Amino acid sequence: MTNYKFNTARIHGGYIPEEHQNAAEVPIYQNVAFTLGDAEHAEKIARGNVPNAYTYSRVGNPTVAVLEKRIAILDGGIEAVAVSSGMAAITYSILNVAEGGGRIIAPFDLYGAALDEFKTLFPKYGIEFDLVADINDLAAIKRLIKPETKAIYTESISNPTTKISDVAGLAAVAHQAGVPLIVDNTFPTPYLFQPLKYGADIVLYSSTKGINGHGNAVSGLIVDGGKFNWNNGKFPQFQEKEFILKEVAAKEDYSYAGVFGNAAFIKRIKMKYLRLMGAVLGPFEAYLELLGLETISERLDKEVATSLKIAHYLKQEPHVKNVYYTGLEDAPQAELRKKYFPKGIGTILSFEIAGTAAQTKKVVDAVKLFLYLPNVGDSRSLIVNPNKITHREVPVEYQAAGHLTDQLLRLSIGLEDSEDLISDLKSAIAQAFEEETDDKNQG
Ligand SMILES: *Cc1c(COP(=O)(O)O)cnc(C)c1O
Repeated sequence: MTNYKFNTARIHGGYIPEEHQNAAEVPIYQNVAFTLGDAEHAEKIARGNVPNAYTYSRVGNPTVAVLEKRIAILDGGIEAVAVSSGMAAITYSILNVAEGGGRIIAPFDLYGAALDEFKTLFPKYGIEFDLVADINDLAAIKRLIKPETKAIYTESISNPTTKISDVAGLAAVAHQAGVPLIVDNTFPTPYLFQPLKYGADIVLYSSTKGINGHGNAVSGLIVDGGKFNWNNGKFPQFQEKEFILKEVAAKEDYSYAGVFGNAAFIKRIKMKYLRLMGAVLGPFEAYLELLGLETISERLDKEVATSLKIAHYLKQEPHVKNVYYTGLEDAPQAELRKKYFPKGIGTILSFEIAGTAAQTKKVVDAVKLFLYLPNVGDSRSLIVNPNKITHREVPVEYQAAGHLTDQLLRLSIGLEDSEDLISDLKSAIAQAFEEETDDKNQG
């Protein structure tokens, strides 16, 4: 099963019909609990000695399990855990790696809610962030590493300016320091980029976005590459003895690292964070994610092609002053793009209106086809003004790095015809500037 290529695995990966009444599509196991058999069998299940046994859907559910197996295969990981949102995936991963306190290095042009969490919430749990302007300045990153550093965290493609992270370079710096590299790979999805292949240790998704692709379910995924050594003395939480592992452990070391070795991170996410903190994904949402995944390659190929056409149109639009889309041939970071993103960088781009904040708002109000809302990775094309909506939590001192001006607009490109999308933008921009001329004439 694991040897199939991407397009086969996204349809069949992690699912065996014979184990599910021969159902051709993954069934929705919309139930909380599973009968335990006789008392003796129940005890074996409770001790964790029965493979593939389900007891209670917070601990495990067969529909959700197929999604977890499939995403692990698509990303080349050893195991994955599905959670109820992308933010839950980020939260659990940061807590799991830096529990009890520590420092994490990250760029500050991050997803707005992640940045807010890193700045205002995690410090209350003893986890501090060293936020940098340029995550690819590897020499500066090296200098920031301290004994308390627990991880390097980055987004493979940044939001909203689509900067590319040098994943292989960051992985080398992280591993030299004995810490893992955690990558939020939401924007490219595993179809366009697989960070584990370049040395990342943990990959996170808001599968709410391009993986689902239809804007109909909030969900998150955590994928473990299974190569990091959690037994290196920097992560005591993986080395302390755990009562619940005592009976599954064959030996005296019943810590997560002792029992699960290099799978300690993902097992601990599942058995500690998901089971005890409880942000589980429902089976129906998992089903929608699986359905979305079945067409991921075709959707992204079309959406990337349309994104490029739109970026080209915006580049020559006189009322646009900057286009941020590292997928463009003449955009900065061409080397990183060629190395990591031969199929394109994704379906999100942003641009700045060469005009006033009021004119920028008028563009948002004048589009008819683009939906104005805070989401990305939908089959419908979307528009938003990040500075006022998705990135409003970003502190003033960080706004310049993300080009977060009142003139910035972010697009997420869907599956409509590119001609219709371009004419919608064209007419909205024309209207924004016409009205300005009218106002002047009247004044
Ligand atoms: C949306 C998003 C998140 C948060 O995901 P939710 O599913 O909304 O919780 C995290 N990272 C990135 C890059 C995102 O776009």
